[in-house]
Amino acid sequence: MRKDITNITNCKESPLKNGSDSLKKKAKVKIISHNFTRKLSEKNPESKLMKAYMDAHVCSNIYTVQGGKAHSHYCHRAFCPICQRIQTAQNIKKFLPIMKYLASEGREFYFVTLTLQNCVTSDVKVLRDFMRKCNRMWADGIRTKHKFRSLDISGVIKKECTYHVVKKGLFSFHFHFHIIVDSLEAAKYVVAQWKKLHGCTVADARFQKYKKIKDLESAAIEVFKYASKASVSRSKGRDGKEKVQINYRALDMIYTAMHGMQRMSSFGQFRTMIGDEALNDFRDEDLVLDVEGLNVDDGCYTWYMSVKDKVADWYNMETGEALCCYRVTRRDELLQDIYLEEDPPN
Ligand SMILES: [Zn+2]
Repeated sequence: MRKDITNITNCKESPLKNGSDSLKKKAKVKIISHNFTRKLSEKNPESKLMKAYMDAHVCSNIYTVQGGKAHSHYCHRAFCPICQRIQTAQNIKKFLPIMKYLASEGREFYFVTLTLQNCVTSDVKVLRDFMRKCNRMWADGIRTKHKFRSLDISGVIKKECTYHVVKKGLFSFHFHFHIIVDSLEAAKYVVAQWKKLHGCTVADARFQKYKKIKDLESAAIEVFKYASKASVSRSKGRDGKEKVQINYRALDMIYTAMHGMQRMSSFGQFRTMIGDEALNDFRDEDLVLDVEGLNVDDGCYTWYMSVKDKVADWYNMETGEALCCYRVTRRDELLQDIYLEEDPPN
């Protein structure tokens, strides 16, 4: 197994892992999360998800250190960068061994992408109805069909929505499904059925595709990662350079429309052995860190950051001691720039 993959599959949150490295990685994501969730709430003062944004803003704000172990509370929100990262690592860790086992039994995996025409709207209700219609097409038109069940398919589906800005307040949403299935027949069936459900006038046939998975690890990462492209909008600037922007209004619409929707669902062996609950959520107690090597006092460590002063760490408010001595880098400031991007002028 490749080294970079091993790190991911061993799960950065494993309690036996080096707490120092793990906390430094968490600090890096915490900086992003801190800015991102603050902007989400600032830019969407009327949002139905305001409380959720606040929850995410204080996700793992406090680490309690006791007897060489550190634990924290997580917000478990689908849009929290910290929780997304944890969920991704855990899913890969659970999914991969089963995938390898099935491969050893002669199953061949395929990656299927199902897309629809974009939903162009400024109304969250329209977006939500659109997503529900798509979900029903998958659930009623494929997933519960006799043919699908008779193929004895093992796999997983993830729902994802990206966007781009049409003009101020109007967005083009691209809701789509990433699916892994364990036979060519299954991949062909899913794609053919999806085309049939649409008629090719609606769904451009070129985008309903499947490809054989050669590298199980990268396929698992591909399906479980929350790509940054889901949050940012890429467009060409006047100078021809790619501009990366985050539109917090568009994101609020996506999060609101997808609120309560199960993002990830499994079938066949994966459902039996992992279950959808574990694919969509994790337990805080599985994330206890071994911080013996840090030699810090027992106590509560609270998050404090100031990128300007180059500090971002959890501090013991009684002693002033930093938990992981994270060194803020220029890259962090760069990330902050992206996450603090203003709305486009148009
Ligand atoms: Zn969180």
